[in-house]
Amino acid sequence: MAERLIVVGGDAAGMAAAAQARRRRGPDDLEIVAFERGHYTSYSACGIPYWISGLVGDAQQLVARDPATHREKYDIDVRLRHEVTEIDLDRREVVARDLEGGGEIREGFDTLMYATGAVPTKPDWARTDALGVFGVQTLDDGAALRKWLESDPKPQRAVVVGGGYIGVEMAEALVRRGLSVTLVERDEQPMSTVDPDMATLVTEAMRGLGVDIRTGVRVGALTVRDGRVSEVVTDDGPIPADVVVLGLGVRPNTALAEAAGMPLGPTGGIRVDRRMRVAETPGVWAAGDCVETLHRVSGMPVHVPLGTHANKQGRVAGINIGGGYATFAGVIGTAVAKVCDLEVGRTGLRERDALAAGFEFVSVIAESTNRAGYYPGARPMTVKLIAERPSGRLLGAQIVGWTEAAKRIDTLAVALWNRMTVDDMTALDLGYAPPYAPVWDPVLVAARKAVDALDPR
Ligand SMILES: Cc1cc2nc3c(=O)[nH]c(=O)nc-3n(C[C@H](O)[C@H](O)[C@H](O)COP(=O)(O)OP(=O)(O)OC[C@H]3O[C@@H](n4cnc5c(N)ncnc54)[C@H](O)[C@@H]3O)c2cc1C
Repeated sequence: MAERLIVVGGDAAGMAAAAQARRRRGPDDLEIVAFERGHYTSYSACGIPYWISGLVGDAQQLVARDPATHREKYDIDVRLRHEVTEIDLDRREVVARDLEGGGEIREGFDTLMYATGAVPTKPDWARTDALGVFGVQTLDDGAALRKWLESDPKPQRAVVVGGGYIGVEMAEALVRRGLSVTLVERDEQPMSTVDPDMATLVTEAMRGLGVDIRTGVRVGALTVRDGRVSEVVTDDGPIPADVVVLGLGVRPNTALAEAAGMPLGPTGGIRVDRRMRVAETPGVWAAGDCVETLHRVSGMPVHVPLGTHANKQGRVAGINIGGGYATFAGVIGTAVAKVCDLEVGRTGLRERDALAAGFEFVSVIAESTNRAGYYPGARPMTVKLIAERPSGRLLGAQIVGWTEAAKRIDTLAVALWNRMTVDDMTALDLGYAPPYAPVWDPVLVAARKAVDALDPR
């Protein structure tokens, strides 16, 4: 008789695992049932801001594989609109509720893949049924927001609460749609994933793009008139709003796992080993935004909810479930985002992380340009490097610039992953031609500056 794999959560991590397991084990050997409570499988939440802005025309473009493809191509029994409400590890059973009114079912499993993603932070003031307040976690959220933006009377004034990368991407989306946009952030700077000196550049640039950024401001309530949101009440006064978008961060979605007795780590994510097996829980695997992982520079467990990790971790779990051998090597915190033409990249540790991890370090900021200064379209680029003292090992890097800035972080990520020193980096053979870089690439300029800071003779 075929073994049975049950997948909880039908997006990046869950379906990557299911597809990999299927590649290695046919339907006679492994039956795969995937429960997804939403309307879509294998979709790109990352694309939501571009769908909202209108750059992407249709939600279907954000769906990499629909349930029919999973069924026909991979023989995976996808149960859409089914929410798993309980996992019984002793009886090897899950309970799932049919959200379209079909009652409750119990399904047995031999192996379980837990991939429920993350839960968006929703403070008390945001728990309202007022019309015009939206999260942007799922395609259903995106559809509701788009509908609202197209409704009559057309919203004119948007407030985005939270200045993380999702908040700034949503600010861009709403600016592109012609709304007047205010972004409220309780910290002194948006984009806390970079150091404050680099985040200042983001604030200035976003103001230049017409976004009204209010930092150091806390939201306390929403004013509702005739059932619609009309104001965001802050400790700095009220801000009129026809639409409010919440981008307040996420935490691992572990409620079911916790209730079933799976162990959580210090970040609140599920504890897994390098093969994505849930610790102390035989036959159960987990991946994606619901787990914590190892930071390769600090050596600490971290929760980094990104699609790039969810896909890789799901793949690793699936290979292992399929009888192969694969490991997830951990993360170094590489991430990129853009707001209109402004690009931000980061990898490794920020100064505060390096301090917390007990490193001694120098940090330098180098100003350069994306192309040769005389080449049309040359624009400023700022690169920050953090290097261990006295070894010179790269610990972290951040880039803020206009076009062609963000993906330069990948060069730095590869250097950091391979434990290069800033001295090694000055010799890197990077491409040069005037349309692509100055003769000294901004990465090389920054590395040279870091070398000087380490040995200022
Ligand atoms: C607006 C936005 C922009 C983003 N941009 C980027 C980006 O540019 N780069 C990047 O790397 N990452 C980005 N991300 C993050 C990325 O989308 C996530 O890290 C990734 O989707 C995580 O995949 P996952 O499979 O772990 O979780 P999810 O994608 O959240 O999938 C989990 C699934 O499980 C389902 N589920 C949960 N509980 C149950 C249950 N009890 N029963 C049944 N189904 C359940 C959910 O409905 C969901 O479909 C972005 C996220 C958002 C919201």
